This record gives sequence, C-alpha cells and structure tokens, in this order.
Amino acid sequence: METRNFINGKFIDSISKEKIPIVNPANQKVVGNIDQALDDEINLAFESAKKAFDKRILLDMDPKKKSNMMRAIATKLREYKNEGGKLLSQENGKTIAQCIDEFNGAADTFDFYAGMTDKIQNKLIPSGKDTFNYVVLEPFGVSLQIVPWNYPVSIFSGMVAQNLIVGNTIVIKPPELCPLSSNFYGKIFEEVGVPNGIINIVHGFGDITGRKLVKNKGSDYIVFTGSPEVASEILKETADRIVPCHFELGGKSAAIIFPDADIDKAVESTVKGIFKPNAGQICVAMSRVIVHPKIKDEYMTKLISKSKKLKVGSGADSETEVTPLISKDQMQRVSNYVNSGIQSGATLELGGKEDQNKDGNFYLPTIFDNVSTKATIAQEEIFGPVASVFDFETENEAIEIANSTSYGLASGVFTADDQKAKWTAERIKAGIIWHNDWFVDGINLPGGGYKKSGYGRDGGMDGIYSHGQTKRVSKRLY
Ligand code: NAD
Repeated sequence: METRNFINGKFIDSISKEKIPIVNPANQKVVGNIDQALDDEINLAFESAKKAFDKRILLDMDPKKKSNMMRAIATKLREYKNEGGKLLSQENGKTIAQCIDEFNGAADTFDFYAGMTDKIQNKLIPSGKDTFNYVVLEPFGVSLQIVPWNYPVSIFSGMVAQNLIVGNTIVIKPPELCPLSSNFYGKIFEEVGVPNGIINIVHGFGDITGRKLVKNKGSDYIVFTGSPEVASEILKETADRIVPCHFELGGKSAAIIFPDADIDKAVESTVKGIFKPNAGQICVAMSRVIVHPKIKDEYMTKLISKSKKLKVGSGADSETEVTPLISKDQMQRVSNYVNSGIQSGATLELGGKEDQNKDGNFYLPTIFDNVSTKATIAQEEIFGPVASVFDFETENEAIEIANSTSYGLASGVFTADDQKAKWTAERIKAGIIWHNDWFVDGINLPGGGYKKSGYGRDGGMDGIYSHGQTKRVSKRLY
C-alpha cells in the first residue's frame, strides 16, 4: 500500500514526518497511515505543477498522444480495480462491489474524455469583411482540486480528466478519511508515464493541509467538491486574489410523486436514492419525498416494509445493502439531526437509532413523516440514511416545497404524464431533474448545482468548457 504524497511524477518520502491513521468505519480498525503534506510538500507540489504548466506540456501535447495517455490510465484503473476496490471499501465503508464499480466508473470517465482530446471546437465569429475573430478555450493554469470522502475515486477521475483536456495542471487533495485508494492514481501515473508535475497528489486534514493549499498563492483556479461551508471559506480566503472557483456542493434533493405515478417504482427509487448507495452519504440523496395524499398510504406502507428489510452491515459482506457511516462524527451528526426531527414534531416511522449490535458506525434506515418545511431536518443536509416525507394538495404547492431549501442539486418527478413532468422540471430550481427514476446518469451527461449547491458543471462536453476560460483573438484585415 502506497502511503506517501505523489509530487513531480513520483512518491516522495515525507518531509513533515506527520502521519494520519485511516480507520475502517465498519470495525474501527486502522487500515493504514497516510503521510500528511504540510508547507514543504505543498510548496513542492505547486512549484512542480507551475513548471509543468509553464512548459506547456499539456497544451502542446498532440491530442492523440493525450488520448492514448488517458486511455492507458483507464486500462490501469481496470487492472487495479479489485485491489483498489477492496482498499476503498475498507477505508470508506461501501461494499466491495460498489467500490470496484467506482474504479470501473473512473476508468470509463478517463476513456470518455480520452475520446474528447481532438473534439474541442473553437469558434470563428463572422463580423464583416475586414475583421477575423476567433474564440479559443484555454486553461486557467494550476488548478487546486479538493475531493470529499463519499466517492473519492470517482470524483478524482472527473476532476482530473476534464482538467487534462483543457490543459490545467493539477495539485489535488484526496479526503483525509479515505485517501489510501486515491494513491493508486499516483502509481498509475508513474506506470503510464504521465509527464512529471502534471498531476500532484497531496494528503492531509481539511482544516490543516486543505487550508494551507487554499491560502497558497500557487493556484490559478480551484475545483472543490464538498460542503457549502468550506466553499464559503475558500471564497473568503481567495477573495483578494479573485481566484475562479468551480463548486460541486451539498444538496437536499426532493422527489415529487404525483397520484398517477408507478408507486412500486417510486418506492424502489426512494430506497436506492436515500438508503442503499452509501447509507445516504451522497450529494444527490433523495432526502425529501413529496407525495400526493391519494397514494401516500400505499407508498408509505410499501416504503416502510421494504426499508425495514434492508440488511445493514459491513461493506465486506456481499449481502449488505446499507453500509456504515464514514466516522463517529458523522454518526453524531446524523443522530443530532434525528433528535431535532423528533423534537420538531415530525412522526418517526422507522429507524431513528444506531445499530448497536455492531462495532462500526451503523445507522438504521430512518423515515420521518409529517415533516414541517421549516424543520431543520427539512432544510439541512443530513448526509445519512434519513428520509423526510411531506404531502401536497396542488401542483404549485409541491413545487413550493421542492424549492423551499437553499439547495438546488438534484430532484425527481414521478408521473405517467409527460406534460406534467415537463411543467414540473421547468419550475424546480435544481441542476438535475430525474423523471420516473432516481439516478438516470451517464458520463456524457452534465450535472451541477443551483443556489447553494454550487456552480460549474461536470460531465459531458459542458464539463470541459466549465473548467476553462475563453480567449478572443480579433484581427483587422487590410
Ligand atoms: P467537506 O467540505 O468537509 O470536505 C471536502 C474536502 O475539503 C475534504 O478533502 C476536506 O479535507 C477538505 N476541507 C475541509 N475543510 C477545509 C478547509 N477549511 N479548507 C480547505 N479544504 C477543506 O465535505 P465532506 O464531508 O468531505 O463531503 C461531504 C459534502 O460534500 C456534502 O456536503 C456533499 O453533499 C458534498 N458533495 C457534493 C458532491 C457534488 O457533486 N455536488 C459530490 C460529493 C459530495
């Protein structure tokens, strides 16, 4: 297991001599110790990324060569998926199958963007016979990228692949709670011969290394996926330098279930939207459900019955459906929110407690009904297996509830009526609207937030253009 920082094309021995223990959330055992990057490592990482940018390595690289390099990364990710997936499961808690899939998805992302290296089309703008104007997509320079713990391997791939296409060089910090599997990237970059300095991986706590990275004047651009609180801190810290930022932040995503919906499908979507993928620790979790009273009894009965049977346990067990929460702090956070839900007067229909039969951070699938839109559990991101159910009479009321939080990441509409779905999609303030299923996704599809859920888009062509800036060149023809 490689536990060092990856700088200027190789893993380097620790300068700070500080290490961070990484704990398995299913049994509290230490999986490994990662080197913490402090000032010396951070300076080296930024210097090497700047040098690589100034040498124009990515900008001058033949598109076919870049494509081959990215495809080679994808091939290696598939080669290491079993080893990497097992390690990711141990440090992050998700099932081994989910973690192997995360490596597969990361490989698919590199493959998709490998096909894009020669497809960036710049613009020629007609403006009369005596001028010639064109607009090109250009990089920002050195991009600082900060990754959260819930999908660290897949978020790493998206951030890095899109930035490679545009030509930004990279200093990236994986999350301190599960950084070990991200070091497979360093190993892979060495093996496929990614030029030195293009991608540098530094590890550390958010409030120490993360803050130092943000404060460092070496970045020209910041890509951050995480909580709005930290995004806000980044904006304040970089305000004087006016550093452009790309933010993929939290959510409080709502599904509206109309009376003509397929109830079984809606129930299935809820279970996979809030309980199954990562015990609700997912930015686009279906944390709110807005159901019409005509079908609510049937929906609730089926939802409770299915959720009750879900197998809560370690990601190492292939039967597990609800995996542990990432840390004891996260358990406390979820538990506090559930207590606040009870105090707010909402009806606790299921769960509402830890699974005390196990050593890890296991929380039972939890469902609240009759939730007030003003309640804290209706407004704040819990990031755990907790669903809040509301009901509505009119369509306008459903929209009002869906839009009643400061977030705007994903949302869903369940109806057999396409006109109604379109009407609803036009009115919900969110970057993604799913119709009749939760998670209708693909690497070629863009996504991102409205409101406090962030700005900038990832995925597809939009993702590429979102990570660069344009330059206009205008010539007077004599
Ligand atoms: P977080 O904001 O606490 O941490 C994210 C990253 O930022 C980590 O690497 C952390 O070390 C670092 N960090 C923390 N404090 C920092 C600081 N002061 N300065 C610089 N870096 C700092 O978030 P988290 O708990 O890791 O992840 C959960 C959050 O991420 C949730 O809000 C979730 O919705 C969001 N998220 C969003 C998306 C998306 O695509 N929109 C995807 C995944 C997660």
